[in-house]
Amino acid sequence: MSNLLEVKNLKKHFPIKKGAIFPKQVGAVKAVDGVSFHVRKGETLGLVGESGCGKSTTGRAILNLIQPSEGEVIYKGEDISHYKGEKLRKLRQDIQIIFQDPYASLNPRMTVEQIIAEPMRAFGTPKKEREEKIDYLLDVVGLSSYHKHRYPHEFSGGQRQRIGIARALTLDPELIICDEPVSALDVSIQAQVINLMEDLQKEFDLTFIFIAHDLSVVHHISDRVAVMYLGEIVEVGEVEELYANPKHPYTQALLSAIPEADPHLKRDRMVLEGDLPSPSNPPAGCKFHTRCPFAEEICRTEHPELKDVSTGDHQAACHLVKEVVGSNG
Ligand code: SF4
Ligand code: MG
Repeated sequence: MSNLLEVKNLKKHFPIKKGAIFPKQVGAVKAVDGVSFHVRKGETLGLVGESGCGKSTTGRAILNLIQPSEGEVIYKGEDISHYKGEKLRKLRQDIQIIFQDPYASLNPRMTVEQIIAEPMRAFGTPKKEREEKIDYLLDVVGLSSYHKHRYPHEFSGGQRQRIGIARALTLDPELIICDEPVSALDVSIQAQVINLMEDLQKEFDLTFIFIAHDLSVVHHISDRVAVMYLGEIVEVGEVEELYANPKHPYTQALLSAIPEADPHLKRDRMVLEGDLPSPSNPPAGCKFHTRCPFAEEICRTEHPELKDVSTGDHQAACHLVKEVVGSNG
């Protein structure tokens, strides 16, 4: 599989300003702080971490909903990070986003039909084609077109997310950034929506970046998973390898918090001390050292880079994990 998307050293720093009349920049919130990863065509990359670790900002910076401070976003071989105007508008056909909150992301004054038609109107799809596509897409996401004259508040959370998914499909995108699409839903509904998304991925040859704060949510749908901490990727790898053989202490802690049905697979619970440090004043060296049970002197001063940690496609950024040479990753 070739790379559809390549993100290189992406940064998004939000300036902190002080002073009412002549505000001066006194610092920055380093929401995304040098993130690199790739997404192959047709795969799902899970992007995981606690809230505030920069996952959503990364998703929005890829789409240019917020302008990256630094770095490259290579989509189909072209750096799209500085796209503006018509180029950016065209790109938004190809790359869509599905938001966490189906309540907030659907206009309450529009009917389902109008909501799904909106992107097609904006791109000039003829009326007849629009109407056919609305019926087709409602069917595809498991809602009857019989409901298309109703308003969002008449639907359940899961149904509203299906409407959001239908809208995201209207312009035949290739890449969909799914920003916690099931986090607001009941657990039983989460599985249904994730299964639907998997079916749609196969049917429409879609590529997903699937953002979640929970490693159990992305396990099923992801081909590879990247774990973020304080604006950086600390571990990335093939899903089965990463879950069976997590190398970074932060990944180990996240995995140990997942309730495991099979007692033989149960891991010792690793409880993280302390709160997530502020992204405006992250710790020096390894940003995780203030909470890492294995931290040593070097961790406080030297920043660990991602390196190959197994013979598969698996990298982690930790001083205590041995580099494995001869990786094909
Ligand atoms: Fe922990 Fe040090 Fe590894 Fe960071 S580099 S995760 S502090 S052991
Ligand atoms: Mg978020």
